Amino acid sequence: MRNMRRVSVLVLALIVVLSVTVLAEERVDRYDQVFDSTQDAGRLTARFLQLITRSDDKSGDSTILTSPDGKVMIVDTGNPSTFIDIQNALEAMGVTRIDYLIASHPHVDHVGSMAQLIYAYDIGAVYTTEVEYNTSHYRSYMEALAATETPHIILSEGDTFMFGEHVLVEVFHPAPGIEYYEGYPDGSTQFINNLSLLMKLTYGDSSFLFSGDLYTAAEREIAARYGDKLRSGVLKVPHHGAGTSSSKPFREAIGAQVAVMMSDAIEELRIYRNYSKAGTDTYITSIDGAVAVSTTGDGEYTVISQFDRINSILD
Ligand SMILES: [Zn+2]
Repeated sequence: MRNMRRVSVLVLALIVVLSVTVLAEERVDRYDQVFDSTQDAGRLTARFLQLITRSDDKSGDSTILTSPDGKVMIVDTGNPSTFIDIQNALEAMGVTRIDYLIASHPHVDHVGSMAQLIYAYDIGAVYTTEVEYNTSHYRSYMEALAATETPHIILSEGDTFMFGEHVLVEVFHPAPGIEYYEGYPDGSTQFINNLSLLMKLTYGDSSFLFSGDLYTAAEREIAARYGDKLRSGVLKVPHHGAGTSSSKPFREAIGAQVAVMMSDAIEELRIYRNYSKAGTDTYITSIDGAVAVSTTGDGEYTVISQFDRINSILD
């Protein structure tokens, strides 16, 4: 009995020693490398931010893109408390002008920092869908647009525009002419998420697909309509990697080499595994930190993540 206890104590001591060793090991932080923009010329680069929420809202999505000829695009702007994270990233990149400021849909974890960005930076134009949403943060960024006389461009299915001289942007969703149901916006979470902007950026043989918070209902419709046209090297995974989204037909139509989930935690391990089992190199910002994905347009992607994985939970 006493021997058993001694063994238990030894095992416990060993566990403590091992844990302390792991904790003491310096965690490599490549933040400066992720946001080093000195090699951006001639490349299309997307930097998926790790946002830290300082409120009750989830942190949300924000991605900063640079075109091969030096234009800057931001897709989504997190919740209002994450403005500092976006500001820090832009400062690290040396960015003072945002040529294209894009909102996928008007939920607070996607447009929370829009007003602050519009007031603080020189903005080329703001691009949104036509979905209107009568909440305080939505009104505040519409007011910021009006006060600063920033051009506001509405995007819908079939629209195309250029991001700089070399990158084509195609909009697949939502269709023009939104029909609001009686009582909107009560109970509109799913309705609004399914109207997220689905937008593809193409540079030579490389492409990035941004999907907002689309749910499987919209994904299936779009996959049936567009099929192979959705094929993209890099995917911003819909709805933070949650189980509401990432249906099989959608994933298969895209066939991404690299996928990034921006979230405060692993939303659903099953979704992560569905991507990684298909051979997609899959990142989660709450684990990997900020992630930079860059290409010269040859269909190959260089990925730098801020942190290394320190455990095997996702294997
Ligand atoms: Zn969201």
